[in-house]
Amino acid sequence: MTDNTGRVIDYLRISVTDKCNLRCRYCMPPEGVTSLRHEDILSFEEITRVCKIMARLGIKKVRITGGEPLVRKDICRLIEGIHVIPGIEEIAMTTNATLLAPLAGELKRAGLDRVNISLDALDPLVFAAITGRDALGEVKEGLSAALSVGFGVKINCVPCRELNEGELRRVAAIAQNQPVDVRFIELMPIGCGKQFHGISSGELLKDFSAFFGEPREAPASPGGGPACYYNFPGFQGRIGFISPISHKFCKSCNRVRLTAEGRFKLCLHYESGIDLRKYLRDGRTEDAQIEEAILEAVKNKPAAHHFESPGEEMPSERENVEERNMNQIGG
Ligand code: SAM
Ligand code: SF4
Repeated sequence: MTDNTGRVIDYLRISVTDKCNLRCRYCMPPEGVTSLRHEDILSFEEITRVCKIMARLGIKKVRITGGEPLVRKDICRLIEGIHVIPGIEEIAMTTNATLLAPLAGELKRAGLDRVNISLDALDPLVFAAITGRDALGEVKEGLSAALSVGFGVKINCVPCRELNEGELRRVAAIAQNQPVDVRFIELMPIGCGKQFHGISSGELLKDFSAFFGEPREAPASPGGGPACYYNFPGFQGRIGFISPISHKFCKSCNRVRLTAEGRFKLCLHYESGIDLRKYLRDGRTEDAQIEEAILEAVKNKPAAHHFESPGEEMPSERENVEERNMNQIGG
């Protein structure tokens, strides 16, 4: 599957719910949002059908996200269904890990390969102030369980001036003591994220170099995604930086998204895409017609986001700017 700018699309991120058991301040309003009705979100059978079609079109990697994917009942059944699809080489999940410890073994047996755990602070009070819940203990248990069942594990942290500036060295130090990569992701001005100020990767790299010692740049792994990794002296894991704002990586973007209500989405910044649920529930639509609609939509994947320069979108794209929160889009 190739778009009009020549990018090969082989990575699908699937949001399985807009619901979440945390309220990270840059992601969801504290009062929550009106959740989708159960009948409005795609069933596992519908998601699996989309995955089969997409795998035939060249999708090799799938990531399950949300909202919080582990609040969706029976999530292991969906992983099992995707795991057996020919062509899908890897299934990963992005999770806040609060519910991970009791489910880790079952998820592994179902075919999940990797988990990315979101963790913005290691001080329990700061964690609770960011997420609205005193749940750091559960997250730590989730991390240990993920490592002990043998998942590839990465930690994702969003540095935010107002929320966790004083926590970032401690979060980075997880990679000092454990064989886990810790990645810092620049805050994007999406939904509630617009109210906060992110911290750039450059500023953090400078701070970590002064504090932990001069790092060596780690070689990029082929198809390894947009993170730039560094090896710090004495660290077991690497420190990565994902810099959608200061170093846009749109030119090598290989991903598309399926939202919980079945919208096929081409870029985080724009609403453009197609309502796949309509096709899936029509009853008469053949897979071939859905394939055709997806291929046509992919051709028009926006060339780049314009988060760093609001208002500079192409006129045709301006009305199309995504206004929803990350939990609704699928982060
Ligand atoms: N609930 C799961 C979790 O937190 O890992 C999965 C969904 S969450 C929306 C996915 C990721 O998006 C999290 O790592 C979160 O920190 C990140 N995120 C949310 N809002 C963001 C924003 N405005 N800019 C950058 N990352 C954001
Ligand atoms: Fe929930 Fe993840 Fe958003 Fe936090 S970042 S509120 S855990 S969806």
